[in-house]
Amino acid sequence: MPVLVLPHALDARVESLKSIGKANAERLDKLGVKTVRDLLLTLPFAQDAFMDTKISALVPDTLASVTGTVLSIKPIVTQRRHMRLVEAIVADDSGAQLRAVWFNSRFVLKYLNKGDRVTLAGTVEKSTYGGRIGMVNPRYEALEGNGEAGPKKVGGMTPRYHLVNGLTSRKIADWVEQVLPLADRLEDLLPEEVRERHHLGDVADAVRRGHKPENEADFREAKRRMAFAELFELQTAFAMVRASVAAEPATPIPYEQEVIDAFKTGVGFDLTRAQRKATWDAFKDMQQTIPMNRLLNGDVGSGKTAVAAACAAMAHAAGMQTVVMAPTEILARQHLRKFRTYLEESFKGLTVELLVSSQSAAERRRVRTAAASGHCALVVGTHALIEDDVEFANLGLAIVDEQHRFGTRQRELLRAKGRGRPHFLAMTATPIPRTLALALYGEMTLSVIDEMPPGRTPVETEVIEPDARARAYDIVRREVDAGHQAFVICPLIEESESVIARSATAEFERLQKDIFPPPIRMGLIHGRMKEKDEVMQRFASGDIQVLVATAVVEVGVDVPNATVMMIEGADRFGLAQLHQFRGRVGRGSASSCCLLLADDPTDRTLARLALVSRIRDGFKLAEEDMRLRGMGELMGPRQHGMSDVAMDALQQPELLNDVRQEAELIVSHDPELKAHPSLRAAVIRRVELTSIS
Ligand code: ADP
Ligand code: MG
Repeated sequence: MPVLVLPHALDARVESLKSIGKANAERLDKLGVKTVRDLLLTLPFAQDAFMDTKISALVPDTLASVTGTVLSIKPIVTQRRHMRLVEAIVADDSGAQLRAVWFNSRFVLKYLNKGDRVTLAGTVEKSTYGGRIGMVNPRYEALEGNGEAGPKKVGGMTPRYHLVNGLTSRKIADWVEQVLPLADRLEDLLPEEVRERHHLGDVADAVRRGHKPENEADFREAKRRMAFAELFELQTAFAMVRASVAAEPATPIPYEQEVIDAFKTGVGFDLTRAQRKATWDAFKDMQQTIPMNRLLNGDVGSGKTAVAAACAAMAHAAGMQTVVMAPTEILARQHLRKFRTYLEESFKGLTVELLVSSQSAAERRRVRTAAASGHCALVVGTHALIEDDVEFANLGLAIVDEQHRFGTRQRELLRAKGRGRPHFLAMTATPIPRTLALALYGEMTLSVIDEMPPGRTPVETEVIEPDARARAYDIVRREVDAGHQAFVICPLIEESESVIARSATAEFERLQKDIFPPPIRMGLIHGRMKEKDEVMQRFASGDIQVLVATAVVEVGVDVPNATVMMIEGADRFGLAQLHQFRGRVGRGSASSCCLLLADDPTDRTLARLALVSRIRDGFKLAEEDMRLRGMGELMGPRQHGMSDVAMDALQQPELLNDVRQEAELIVSHDPELKAHPSLRAAVIRRVELTSIS
C-alpha cells in the first residue's frame, strides 16, 4: 500500500493523500476531518456485520454475506407493478439457492455473469418482490478463480461513516486503509496506569480495530477505548478549570434565615421541593470562598427565576450586587418584571434595573451610574452588560440565563465585572440527562429542577396525520376567534435542496394567502432576520395572532395568550426539541394544545411522536430521545464538540464516572500535567474549544 511518509505525516492535510483531492477534502472538512490524524481518529459510527453464512442457514431480517456461483442473471420486469429489476440466482455448496434483485441497476449485468463466483452482502429478506428468500440491492463482488485468492471487498465487518453528499463509506474506508499504518505514530493521551486500571488497549490498536474490526466485540472495545480517552481529555480540562477557579477566591455570602422568610412572603407562593433543594445547594456554595459555579437545569416553567431571585436577595443582604444576563431583550425584560415582583416589595432598598442596547443613551447612563455607585442591587440585561463602560461597585453574583446561547468569552467578561471572582449561576431550560450534563458542563456542579409548580394545566398534545391537516388549521382559527394566539413551526430552513421541508417564508406566504387570510394578522420569524426581537414583541403584545416561526422561538418567551403550537415536519425535530416548543404554550390560564404533523408519517415516526403526547416530563423525554436517537442527536449536530463515539459511550454512566475519577486524580497529583505533556497540549486545545468558562 503506498503510504505518504512525511516527518509530520499525522498533521498532513488530507488532500495531500493519494486519491483524495480537493473536492473530497472539502467534503471531509465538513465532517471535521482536516488532517490524517483526524481521519484516523474519526471512527465509523457503526459496523455492519455481514457474516459469512451458508444460503441454507440464512435468517430473514439479519445481515449476512454469502459466497456462491451465479446460476443465472437477467433483467426482469415485475408482473404487478412493472418495475425493472436485475435478478440473479446464486447457489452455494449448501445446496440452497438465493435470489438477489437490484433496482435501477442494469450495470450489474456488466460485472456479473452466469458461472461467476460471487460474494453478496446485504440484509436477508423473507421474500424479494414475489420471489423467494434473498437480498434486495446487495453489495456484490465477482471473485477471481475460486475466490480463495485476494482480499474480499464485500462481506465481513463493513464500516458506516458519517457522510456528506459526494462521499461514501467505501471511499472513506479506502482512504483510511491508506493511512492506517500511521496509527502507530499516534500519541497516546491516556496515561499507562489509567489504561491498566480500566483494561484499555493502546491507541493504535483501538484505531485499527475501530476501522477494521474482526467482529462486533472488537468494534465495541475500540469504541470504549476511544470514548474513554476523549472523555478523559474533556474531564481533565474541566478538573483543571475547577482547580483554577478555586484558586481565585470569592467573597462568601452568609446565609440569613430572615432573608428567606422575607423572600417567601414576597413571591407569594411556596417553593416546590425541587426549587428548595436547588436554592439550598446554591446557598451552601455561596457561603464558601471558593466561587460557586453551578448549573441550574430545569424545564421551561419549572421556576428557575425564583431560585435565582432568592440568591440575589441573599447577596443583597450581604451588601453585594447581582447581575443577570439573558440572550435576548424580550427575555431580559421578562426577567426584569419577575425580579421586581419577587424582590422589590419585601426588600427595602433593593432596586432592579434594566440595561439593553435599545435604551436611550441617557437611560443607559443612569443605569450604569446606579450600578457603579452600588445604588442598584440588581441589573438585568443582555450583551449590553459586558461592554467596557459597565462597572459594579461590588458585584458578588453573576447569573446567566440560557447559558448555552453565550460563548465562553462573553461569560468570562461578565464575571470579570466582579472584584475578585463573583459567584456564578448558569441556567438552562433544555432538560438534558444528568450524564450528558456532566459530560458537557463538567466544570460546573449541577442542580436539577425536576418538578413543576402546582396548578398548571397540561398542554394537550396530539399527533395529526397529514391528511387531517385541515383540522389543525380549524383549531388554529377557532383559537384565534376566541381571542387567543398560535404558533406554526416550520422545519429549519436548510441549505440542502434535498430537504423536502418548506421554507418558513414560503409557508408564511401560502398560509396568509390561502389559510389564514386577513383580518387574521400573521407574522414571520426566522433566524436570518434582524428584527427578531420586534416580531416577538408584536406577538407578545397580541398584534400578531398567528406566528410562523422556525426553531428560533425555542427559548423562554412568555406569551400567556398563546394557546396553539402547531409543528410542521415534527418528525425532523428531536423529542426534546418538540418539548421545548410545547413549553411556549400553556403559560396562561386557558387550556392549550400542541399539534404534531409529520412529513414522513411512517409507523416508526408516529410512534416516536406519540411519546411526546404521552410523556410530559422534559427529563424523561430527553432520556427517551437519547435512547432512540443517541446522545449526539439530542444536542443537535456537532454543537457539542464531542464525537459520536464519545456521545454514545455516555449511555453507560459508569464509564463517565470512571473517567471523572481518573481526571480528578491526575489533576490533584499533577495540577499542571507536567508529567503528561501531550495530554496537557490536548487539554489546552479543549479549553479553548469548548464551553469551559
Ligand atoms: P423558568 O424555569 O422557565 O424560568 P419561571 O421562573 O419563569 O420558569 O416560572 C414560571 C412561572 O411559574 C412564573 O410565572 C412563576 O411566577 C411561577 N412559579 C414559579 N415557582 C412557583 C411555585 N413554586 N409555585 C407557583 N408558581 C410558581
Ligand atoms: Mg426562565
